[in-house]
Amino acid sequence: MSDQLQRFIFDDYQIRGEIAHAHNSFSEIIKNHNYSPEIANIVGELLIATSLLTATLKFAGKIAVQLQGDGPLNLAVINANQDQELRGTARVEGETKGLSFKQLIGKGHLMITVTPDNGERYQGIVELQKESLSECLEDYFAQSEQLPTRIILHASNIDTPQAAGLLLQTLPAVDEDHDDQFQHVSALASTVKEDELYTLENNELLHRLYHQETVRLFDPTPITFKCSCSKERCLSSLASIAPEEILDMLKENGAIDMHCEYCATDYHFEVDDLKILLTDTQH
Ligand SMILES: [Zn+2]
Repeated sequence: MSDQLQRFIFDDYQIRGEIAHAHNSFSEIIKNHNYSPEIANIVGELLIATSLLTATLKFAGKIAVQLQGDGPLNLAVINANQDQELRGTARVEGETKGLSFKQLIGKGHLMITVTPDNGERYQGIVELQKESLSECLEDYFAQSEQLPTRIILHASNIDTPQAAGLLLQTLPAVDEDHDDQFQHVSALASTVKEDELYTLENNELLHRLYHQETVRLFDPTPITFKCSCSKERCLSSLASIAPEEILDMLKENGAIDMHCEYCATDYHFEVDDLKILLTDTQH
């Protein structure tokens, strides 16, 4: 199944929805990282969550969804843009085997940072108090946007990397019957099995859940793994260091090595590669 996000709406209810599949992007994100199944699971769920959240952006920009805590999973982050290009990484310290979501993160929070191409950056934070990422995100929507939201996330790296999810959300300004309708639609969504979410085509999945409702699916958007690192970006970050310090580093190590935490690419710079940054001190 190709990586994609697809929106849908119910004709008779003021509820919108999205389904995301990202098996390939998940595979790319965990490749070259030696994550335990427990950590891979959270990274996969966070990837899907970010894709679902990105689809709610109404403008061009970037979004970062971060989990931070004092448990073995210090940090997990997924970065995305409005074109559904995503990358992510996790920092882990210590044993993770058999630990739950809450145990892995410990005392921590979920932070969502939205950076519009034109406009002010804003940040939303919610304390992690629930047993799963999806419930924490539902808390976030309840607190920050006051929109009833149901989120289902699944990820697994047991045999092959698989990650998928479903979001249901109330449209702003709803009428009186709405609460019952949302309950009804959410309860049906809760019956979806992990494997169905991974493997069923979206129209089949929606038919299986909502054959008594009229659901309209929009055109899908591809989801892709894309890291924004490059040799040029490394050089421009080195340019912020004083040339004397770069010379010291070169003297000490013979070269400067940089590593991208996201895609695990290594960048190697020798004196010749860095001449442009050192010209100031060479005469
Ligand atoms: Zn990279």
